[in-house]
Amino acid sequence: MSAIHIANRVTRIKPSPSSTASDRANALKRAGKAIVNLVVGEPDFDTPAVIRQAASAAIERGETRYTQNNGTPALRTAIAEKFLRENRLTVNADDVIVTNGAKSAIFNAFAATLETGDEVLIPAPYWVSYPDMVLACDGRPVIVTCSEQDGFKLTPESLRAAITSRCRWLLINSPSNPSGASYTRAELRALADVLLDYPHLAIMTDDIYEHIRYDDAPNVHLLEVEPRLADRTLIVNGVSKTYAMTGWRIGYATGPKTLIAAMGTLQSQSTSNASSVSQAAALAALNSGTEFITTSLEIYRQRRDDIAARLNAIPGLSCRVPEGAFYLYVNCGGLLGKTTAAGQRLTTDNEVVLWLLDSAGVAVVAGAAYGLSPYFRLSIATDLPALQHGAELIAAAVASLK
Ligand code: PMP
Repeated sequence: MSAIHIANRVTRIKPSPSSTASDRANALKRAGKAIVNLVVGEPDFDTPAVIRQAASAAIERGETRYTQNNGTPALRTAIAEKFLRENRLTVNADDVIVTNGAKSAIFNAFAATLETGDEVLIPAPYWVSYPDMVLACDGRPVIVTCSEQDGFKLTPESLRAAITSRCRWLLINSPSNPSGASYTRAELRALADVLLDYPHLAIMTDDIYEHIRYDDAPNVHLLEVEPRLADRTLIVNGVSKTYAMTGWRIGYATGPKTLIAAMGTLQSQSTSNASSVSQAAALAALNSGTEFITTSLEIYRQRRDDIAARLNAIPGLSCRVPEGAFYLYVNCGGLLGKTTAAGQRLTTDNEVVLWLLDSAGVAVVAGAAYGLSPYFRLSIATDLPALQHGAELIAAAVASLK
């Protein structure tokens, strides 16, 4: 008998499948195989120089101690200003919490609110961490399938049909990882109309990709469309994707006072404040204007258009051109039932993905990981020549199928 008992809350969850796929791709790489890794979920750009310099300056000024648990007043004020400037939402800096990445804001919100068996509505395809975070916090993830025909978006009908008296939260991630789907003002209005009928349901919006959007319509938040939902909505955001700052680990959230206070209590007894130096960097990021955002968006757009066209030209594959984020969610249903050169019949997206890795040397993540098959997610956060090479390898592999 071992002295170390691993708790149920851990054994019922699994490590992130995108890291698992990445690990496998890296292992093959180390073994000397050429791999085009299209798994990555982070910008391939460096953090902009003004942000890096602000961090260095903070170190030199001695900003290397604990900060207020919920974040420095300067950063919380800048976040409140950001909500007004970019989202037309009035937020008090006291109702903002700065967290160790958006991930810890989401986790702490669930940990602060879920009792055993409480349900969380998660539209699929979903970011892989949502269901496991709910499970780790003793909740029950309830998956609501959003079909490709519906643009991978929740419809008012499917939302209404999924709500029960045990539902605590609805998660909305727009633009979405992995589908890139982004809700329009009219779609948010229709969802808000349903939500108004169910006052017991809280809403969590994960807006981490809000600036990576390709359509020209202005960014719109659920609370701008329906301010009456404000007393039960938690907004989660962060600097990771917008400013190429994944390693700095700064996220933030705002919402009802009691919830922000509870999240703060949990944070104070677990991680404490997010890194002081990273907070100084995030402050500079939020005050850095729009140049980096515009430039990186144009690069993503070029890749999206180029690679989506290449993939759509491959018989058996198709992908919707996403409105946002930096992923393509590729339908591989047309490959199922085909036989590989080695004589294997492909029956699931998991098998397609393993076959692509082994035979084409291209690493992507199976749709099964995101709760909607048969698809795979391909990240475009890699330079265009590598992406084009990856698309060519995929085309050649698919052409070899019988
Ligand atoms: N939400 C979504 C939808 C994401 O894709 C990610 C990053 N993969 C996060 C949240 C977490 O971001 P952070 O780096 O701020 O923890």
